[in-house]
Amino acid sequence: MDFTVLTLFPELIQSFFKHGMILRGIEKKLIDATCVNIRDFSTDRHNTVDDRPYGGGSGMVMKVEPLKAAILSAKKKAPESQVILMTPQGNRFSQKKAWELASKNTGLIFICGRYEGIDERIYTTLVDEELSIGDYVMTGGELASMVIIDSIARLIPGVLGSDESCRSDSFTDDRLEYAQYTRPEVFERQKVPDVLLSGNHEKIRLWRKKSSLERTFLKRPDLFKKTGLSKEEKKIVLQWCQELESLC
Ligand code: SAM
Repeated sequence: MDFTVLTLFPELIQSFFKHGMILRGIEKKLIDATCVNIRDFSTDRHNTVDDRPYGGGSGMVMKVEPLKAAILSAKKKAPESQVILMTPQGNRFSQKKAWELASKNTGLIFICGRYEGIDERIYTTLVDEELSIGDYVMTGGELASMVIIDSIARLIPGVLGSDESCRSDSFTDDRLEYAQYTRPEVFERQKVPDVLLSGNHEKIRLWRKKSSLERTFLKRPDLFKKTGLSKEEKKIVLQWCQELESLC
């Protein structure tokens, strides 16, 4: 999978590509990561990339010409790539979107804005999708692009130690992940649930399903509105109600 980030602050992105799971993906040749300095595409002798907004007002706006040249140059290297603009006004990024982009396996070109944003005319022909990482405004798109790349990269087969691990992650199938434990078996008089030490895979699977349901009910009940309960989940909830009734 090819990731290309167009930015005015390449150092931020370059150091991100040099660490952890992204670096491992690059070393395994599962990921190709490139950072492009938009300033390299400005054509005047001052390397201008921004200008005052028409109509007045505060701040500066990123100019369309250097950005267009940077996008076209990135597209030349990876013509199938999808161009994604980082903007607080975009569609909200989610785990579902991460899976969608990871499974498409086309290259992704991220545009990181700065200042007051980018000249509107970049949207009309050069951008395939606008993405936001939440309803707040940051000073630049770099952090947003790193958030998105990080969450997509870990879904690419072979990047994580075990491909299984991301299958049970929170938000997969609109549920939160079950409770996790590791050594010691007892911590401050709190014991790891016996079933997790039993070695019985089916019982462990069911316990995890129940734990995942409980946590979703308690922490993110809104997720149930997206997808109803499966047959197996309904059975678990019924048992749960019976257990609660027996306590009353
Ligand atoms: N004036 C713009 C507005 O109100 O919509 C915000 C510009 S912001 C200060 C500068 C850049 O940061 C944006 O062009 C975008 O690339 C990035 N950015 C800020 N918040 C973001 C968010 N929540 N998600 C994605 N990108 C964001």
